[in-house]
Amino acid sequence: WVVASLTKKHPPLARFIGDGAAPSAPNFDVVVIGGGHAGTEAAAAAARCGSRTLLLTHRVDTIGQMSCNPSFGGIGKGHLMREVDALDGLCSRICDQSGVHYKVLNRRKGPAVWGLRAQIDRKLYKRNMQKEILNTPLLTVQEGAVEDLILTEPEPEHTGKCRVSGVVLADGSTVHAESVVLTTGTFLRGVIVIGLEMHPAGRLGDQPSVGLAQTLEKLGFVVGRLKTGTPPRIAKESVNFSILNKQTPDNPSIPFSFVSETVWIKPEDQLPCYLTHTNPRVDEIVLENLHLNSHIKETTRGPRYCPSIESKVLRFPNRLHQVWLEPEGMDSELIYPQGLSVTLPAELQEKMITCIKGLEKAKMIQPGYGVQYDYLDPRQITPSLETHLVQRLFFAGQINGTTGYEEAAAQGVIAGINASLRVKHKPPFVVSRTEGYIGVLIDDLTTLGTNEPYRMFTSRAEFRLSLRPDNADSRLTFRGYKEVGCVSQQRYERASWMKSSLEEGISVLKSIEFSSSKWKKLIPEASISIVKSLPLRALDVLKYEEVDMKLLAKAVPEPLKKYVESRELAERLKIEATYESVLFHQQQQIKEVQQDEALQLPKDLDYLTLRDVSLSYEVREKLHFIRPETIGAASRIPGVTPAAIINLLRFVKTTQ
Ligand code: FAD
Repeated sequence: WVVASLTKKHPPLARFIGDGAAPSAPNFDVVVIGGGHAGTEAAAAAARCGSRTLLLTHRVDTIGQMSCNPSFGGIGKGHLMREVDALDGLCSRICDQSGVHYKVLNRRKGPAVWGLRAQIDRKLYKRNMQKEILNTPLLTVQEGAVEDLILTEPEPEHTGKCRVSGVVLADGSTVHAESVVLTTGTFLRGVIVIGLEMHPAGRLGDQPSVGLAQTLEKLGFVVGRLKTGTPPRIAKESVNFSILNKQTPDNPSIPFSFVSETVWIKPEDQLPCYLTHTNPRVDEIVLENLHLNSHIKETTRGPRYCPSIESKVLRFPNRLHQVWLEPEGMDSELIYPQGLSVTLPAELQEKMITCIKGLEKAKMIQPGYGVQYDYLDPRQITPSLETHLVQRLFFAGQINGTTGYEEAAAQGVIAGINASLRVKHKPPFVVSRTEGYIGVLIDDLTTLGTNEPYRMFTSRAEFRLSLRPDNADSRLTFRGYKEVGCVSQQRYERASWMKSSLEEGISVLKSIEFSSSKWKKLIPEASISIVKSLPLRALDVLKYEEVDMKLLAKAVPEPLKKYVESRELAERLKIEATYESVLFHQQQQIKEVQQDEALQLPKDLDYLTLRDVSLSYEVREKLHFIRPETIGAASRIPGVTPAAIINLLRFVKTTQ
């Protein structure tokens, strides 16, 4: 974790131009290594930006493979998918062609933190993703294992940094490129573990990436080690679903993509999920056999928020843990027991499974396993995901210490865009923390680093009321279209129509005013309190929980009926109304900080012990060590959140 070591010069293993690179080697603007969730987005984004792109990956038939869970989205992750989609990325659209059970999480909370989520048919997702990738203009796909990088000697005017100019494959052939994006997931020196058995692999059935890991280390990149795991797969016909709690999908389904009017499958044809729980016998099997479990003994960090059953039993003993039985696809005979990630020897996994309610006769088709892999300290990359150490080399996905398909896809789209912009000598495309969860993700990684697999949550975003899944298009589509050209004309026109319809709708809703008693008569269902003197705007009436645009348009058909013709527009108007006052308040806070940028911070402030001001310990430490002179300087310290700045500002103003 010593970032200072980045400045050290290490003799690279990588080849320099002239070291035998074939002069006839093919040339591309951008080469992306890896066909996982980061790689597919990066390659497609670079091609959409107009760069001649090559996607180099081990196997074409594993492009778009979902290595672990058969689902996409969730709390925070659904937000990332909407943002990837707003930049015309692929995963949301492909999910809408492959989902088998749509369910929005966090429904009881406001729409700002709803988690769009769906179970996905693995085979269908892979097939649809491969079709998309193989039909993307300017994108070429090639099978091969990349073993090494080709570098160009540093030019004096370029601060001594070398530049990547291509890659070397395992068969010794080379490909030249202006920019290279590495998205190698869990493959760098990957080792998979079941019980006491360990063997080199990127994931079950796939070779690891060793040469590339060595190259990166030799180049001076700071490398760490992380681990994760996956549950066993169970034969569907061996599960007794009849005694378990059934979860049915939402009706209607909310699509992931802004351009999907609906999803490919009707809610009534979607597949259910079932809920069961672990019990004390599961705890016993885990605890009695810890000595047979190498993965759990490893001190390497695993995912905090998607832990193995062993970690859950050790951390929270004597509790019943949820196990969701999820379908793997429409015609799949497999069930994925979500929550049962395990690395015990296979026979003990089967023993453990069969003590769970509903799984008494379950047949295990594939054992769960763990994977340990190298990742690169993400503080070695800039907000555009280019490395500090090697020019035009970009990292995206699990290689940067994240976990999850959505986190990988989000980084992929940004790396692909920036790899392309770099070739065109254009300024980088950076999403800020106030603009999107993508900004939060990349800012957290590049400023704070991570020593455990990083996943997204809504709690990581300071301004979550404005970074909602419903409005990702208005935050990012216009930038994507105008600044980088990664958004199609059709999507741009749709987002423009939505933007102008929302603006018009809100102004119409503001202009309709009646007394509260008249509103009460018009909409008896609404719990409007009658205050004689005050007229109420239709926008305020729409804020009542029980009022939606349909009710409002029934009460005042002219001019409101046209706003219910589109279900999405009607829903978005409701959401805009719900958040109108809080967002106004949030904008005021942002202005407040901007106005007081020059406010001096007392020199003797003891940030570590300061009471009466809510600051995380991490923020206190940063302020303590850096001792910024003004609020403006404090706000520019990486990792000091806008919320912390507002609290500090108010504290200093009241004590002066
Ligand atoms: P990947 O999807 O892993 O794709 C990497 C790609 O790079 C592959 O196509 C590979 O063939 C290719 N590649 C690698 N090296 C080379 C090379 N040298 N040359 C050419 N091609 C190369 N996520 C969760 O959110 N929760 C979990 O519980 C969870 N558990 C997991 C368990 C396991 C066993 C595994 C393997 C993954 C798990 N994940 C989990 C992580 C999830 O699968 C990843 O976060 C996500 O797939 C990362 O996407 P990526 O594009 O970075 O990498």
